[in-house]
Amino acid sequence: MSSADPTLRVTVPGQRAGLAPVTRAQVQALKRHLLDALRDLRAARRPERLIQRRAAEPKGFVAQVVAAGCRHYRGSCCMAGGTHAFIDERTLARVRAEQPGLTVRGIIRAYVDAVAPEAYQGSCVFHGAQGCTLPRPLRAELCNAYYCDGLARLLKDGAAHARTVAIATHDGEVMLVHRHE
Ligand code: SF4
Repeated sequence: MSSADPTLRVTVPGQRAGLAPVTRAQVQALKRHLLDALRDLRAARRPERLIQRRAAEPKGFVAQVVAAGCRHYRGSCCMAGGTHAFIDERTLARVRAEQPGLTVRGIIRAYVDAVAPEAYQGSCVFHGAQGCTLPRPLRAELCNAYYCDGLARLLKDGAAHARTVAIATHDGEVMLVHRHE
C-alpha cells in the first residue's frame, strides 16, 4: 500500500461448509476429551510449568478487521478443531490456575455451555455462525495465538494508514471493512 492509498489488501482462506446443530455424540466426545486432558494434568509433576503465556488480543481497527475476516469467510483455520478444539493439559492448567474454584464438573460444564448451538459441518464444535463461541480464557493457546498468513501479516505490520481494508479469499470474493474510529 502506498501512503496515498487508504485501502489495505489482505487475503485469507475461506471455507463453504454449512451450519448444523452440534450433536449429542459430538458433545459426548468433547466431554471425553476434556476428562482425558484433566487426567493428563493430574499426572503432571509440575502443573504450573505447563501454563503458557496468553497471546495478546488484537485491539482497535485491526481487531475489527480480524473479527470481520474470520466471521465473513467462516474461519477455515478452525476446521481442524473437531471435538477437541486443541484443548490439552496445558490449556486446563491455565484454566485451573486462573479459576481455582472450578471443580472438574464446573470445568466440563463451562465448556459444554459454550458449545455453539449450530457449528460449521466438519469443523470445531465451538465454530458458530458469528465465530468462536468459546471465551478466550477457556481456549487452547494455539487458538488464542493463531492467525492465517494474511491476518498475521496485518497484525505484524498494523493498519495505521488504512481507512479501509479489503479482505479477499483466494477464490476472489472481497469484503471491505471501513475504519470508524
Ligand atoms: S475453539 Fe474457537 S478458535 Fe479454536 S478451533 Fe474451535 S472455533 Fe476455532
